[in-house]
Amino acid sequence: MKRRTFLQAAAGAGMTAAAAGTAGLLAGCGRSDAVPQSPVQFVPGRAMPWMNWSGNQSCTPAWRAAPASEAELVDVLARARGVVRAVGASHSFSAVVPTDGTLVATDLLSGLVSHDPATLRAEILAGTRMHALGPMLHGVGQSVPNMPDMDYPAMGGAIVNSVHGTGQRFGSMSSCVTALTLATPSGQLIDCSAERNAEVFHAARTSVGALGIISRMTLQNVAPFRLVETTRIETTEEVLDEITKRCAMHRNFECMPLPHSSLCVTIATDEAGPHDTPTGEDDPQAVKSLRTLWQAVGWMPGMGEAAYDKLLTTFMAGEGSQVRVGQSYEVFPHVRVVRFREMEYTVPADAGPACVREILRTIRERRLPIAFPLEYRYVKADDIWLSMFEGRDGCSISVHQYGDTDHRAYFAEIEPIFWKYGGRPHWGKIHTLDAARLAALYPRHWKDFQEVRRSLDPQGRMLNPHLKHIFGA
Ligand SMILES: Cc1cc2nc3c(=O)[nH]c(=O)nc-3n(C[C@H](O)[C@H](O)[C@H](O)COP(=O)(O)OP(=O)(O)OC[C@H]3O[C@@H](n4cnc5c(N)ncnc54)[C@H](O)[C@@H]3O)c2cc1C
Repeated sequence: MKRRTFLQAAAGAGMTAAAAGTAGLLAGCGRSDAVPQSPVQFVPGRAMPWMNWSGNQSCTPAWRAAPASEAELVDVLARARGVVRAVGASHSFSAVVPTDGTLVATDLLSGLVSHDPATLRAEILAGTRMHALGPMLHGVGQSVPNMPDMDYPAMGGAIVNSVHGTGQRFGSMSSCVTALTLATPSGQLIDCSAERNAEVFHAARTSVGALGIISRMTLQNVAPFRLVETTRIETTEEVLDEITKRCAMHRNFECMPLPHSSLCVTIATDEAGPHDTPTGEDDPQAVKSLRTLWQAVGWMPGMGEAAYDKLLTTFMAGEGSQVRVGQSYEVFPHVRVVRFREMEYTVPADAGPACVREILRTIRERRLPIAFPLEYRYVKADDIWLSMFEGRDGCSISVHQYGDTDHRAYFAEIEPIFWKYGGRPHWGKIHTLDAARLAALYPRHWKDFQEVRRSLDPQGRMLNPHLKHIFGA
């Protein structure tokens, strides 16, 4: 039986029925009915609630604004009530967006402003979604050098959190920004770059949206390129043993270890040759099938983690690879239909293998009921004050939990492991660190950032409770 057929069968009626009896199996990490739900109750005249993609953040802003120009953006900031927060595609897991005051959607600030064929730079509006950016840049002979594994975010929302893909030779999306325009809470429009208002530039490229609202940015791009992406099932230990070689062999490389299994999914991406052809199909529901299999195995008398590993190994190892080929902006992103919650820390690149091994060992030894794969990626160092990659090459490691299952107990088990390895949390993903802990992780520029923040927003108009917590303001 092929991998896909097997996993689909697992998700089918037989195992689903078995899984129905397994609610208690997940008790160690909470039950889905323990997750606080956000009721969307219709009350005429009352403001509409906002909710993020994964359903763990919500708010009811008193005013929702959608400026269509920089002049309107400045006006909105001048008239805003309460705490002001911008919103892109609502794809952050952390509480960076919620406000009961003014929520500023950036959707109408979208599109290409100008481009330069000589330098391969392009100025774009900050609300441009990544899925629109690819074809738009392609049309003018440019492409971003790297992308995350999905293309839903708005560019403004992406850069303020240092959103990244994988590849030891590539920095985050923020590292491609050479200039930007920031509308401050006091109604100024500041143009900044490494040469002009440099302090604002170093702070604003990764600001967690604390300095104001970015209206436009200039990207340093490359010429368009085609990619071939190969997905394989491999043995986690073998991949980690030769991770340096793997990363050197491919333009982009990442690995997704499967908990309670010796296997991982690897994704190797290279520039495509003329003879590369696609094979196999991407299965956006595969993570759901993994959970069903995990639950079904747990339900069967006498079966446990060893049986789960054996079943996965029998049916998945040795499977042929799946190949996708196309323009870079078509191949980097994947469809994400299964909702989840995520915690990601970036540890120094050299510490990556030890850290991920300790996480896998902890899941196994503490018998945490986790089926969702981990994610393991590399990102090049940069000089952006609050970037997770500031001053050091990074290995970004993520743990996930299904959106209908309480993630808290699982994440609480794993987060101290990241701390032990000097990890810096992804600003847009779940973590529990406060200002004092974060300041210690950014010894070079934490204070510089706070000075710029206070000078641009002395009254703290951009600070919701989460930002107050992380910045100690
Ligand atoms: C399915 C899924 C897959 C993901 N994959 C990856 C991945 O591969 N790599 C990765 O690094 N992350 C990943 N993430 C995390 C996500 O990309 C980031 O949290 C990103 O910041 C979300 O962008 P957004 O446009 O949705 O921003 P939002 O979540 O809407 O906002 C994020 C922050 O940006 C601020 N903001 C928005 N627009 C502006 C603006 N114009 N000016 C100033 N501040 C602004 C907001 O106030 C907020 O503080 C993933 C998330 C999901 C749900």
